Amino acid sequence: MVLSDLGQKITASFNKLSQAPIIDDELLDEVLKDISSALLHADVNVRYVAKLRGDVKKRVLMEGEEGGTNKRKLIQKCVVDELIGLVSAEKEPYKLKKGKCNVIMFVGLQGSGKTTTCTKYAHYYNRKGWRTALVCADTFRAGAFDQLKQNASKVRIPFYGDYQETDPVKIAGDGVELFRKEKYDLIIVDTSGRHKQETALFEEMLQVEEVVQPDDIVFIMDAHIGQACFEQAKAFRDTVNVGSVIVTKFDGHAKGGGALSAVAATNCPIVFLGTGEHFDEFQPFDPSSFVSRLLG
Ligand code: GDP
Repeated sequence: MVLSDLGQKITASFNKLSQAPIIDDELLDEVLKDISSALLHADVNVRYVAKLRGDVKKRVLMEGEEGGTNKRKLIQKCVVDELIGLVSAEKEPYKLKKGKCNVIMFVGLQGSGKTTTCTKYAHYYNRKGWRTALVCADTFRAGAFDQLKQNASKVRIPFYGDYQETDPVKIAGDGVELFRKEKYDLIIVDTSGRHKQETALFEEMLQVEEVVQPDDIVFIMDAHIGQACFEQAKAFRDTVNVGSVIVTKFDGHAKGGGALSAVAATNCPIVFLGTGEHFDEFQPFDPSSFVSRLLG
């Protein structure tokens, strides 16, 4: 089930509440059961669904005791609050700072959309007036260099890479040093991926992190991988200092719930969603507006 279906199902449960003549425990259980089943179908991790159900029930029972409470509104509010909590992280995302050179390193598995997302991110901030540059430190995937170079020229952003050099750590270091000297506001470092999590990949990420000293590390996660998001995000976060997440391929038939609940688990905020192959198909992520849009 894609996320728009999830929104419709939750809205249908809210309508059921509005139409019921009385709101008793039985109806509350029924509505929470419907919502939980919709969340599970959208691939939200089972432990968060159970928590959401328990927490809503507890809050409704407690606050519903107070005189004059509109139980329908209370239930709806609790569900919305819990959904916002699910897609929020306690940690604040890194905010780019004016007057300094912000270095942002991108990590993720091969095919997650890392190279495309580096360009989208660069393009987004470039249009907002930040002097932005791209560094290609992906020496693992043949074609990564040309892809990022072409992308960079399409969005007219300076690019550093080295066809001959095989050491990604050296390229990352040299590229960042060059653009630091030229006083760019934002330097984005694209790194290698692998098809799966491997020691070699994580060692390389650590070395690149060491040499470029990034202000933030953004983990790129493909919304289609569903429940596997949790372990993947955790593995990256346990290795390098991941501070933010971008979920890609949120268009099409992604269920999305897996990616969203993985983020709650790793406690790194989602900062953007990728919603298509085009460089403009990229939107900032805000938990409250995401949930309001989901529920129409
Ligand atoms: P990388 O190996 O992680 O660098 O992945 P790429 O950036 O090369 O992307 C892999 C594929 O996913 C490419 O065909 C991209 O066009 C596509 N892609 C990336 N982001 C999105 C997105 O948000 N939506 C869709 N539909 N496709 C995307």
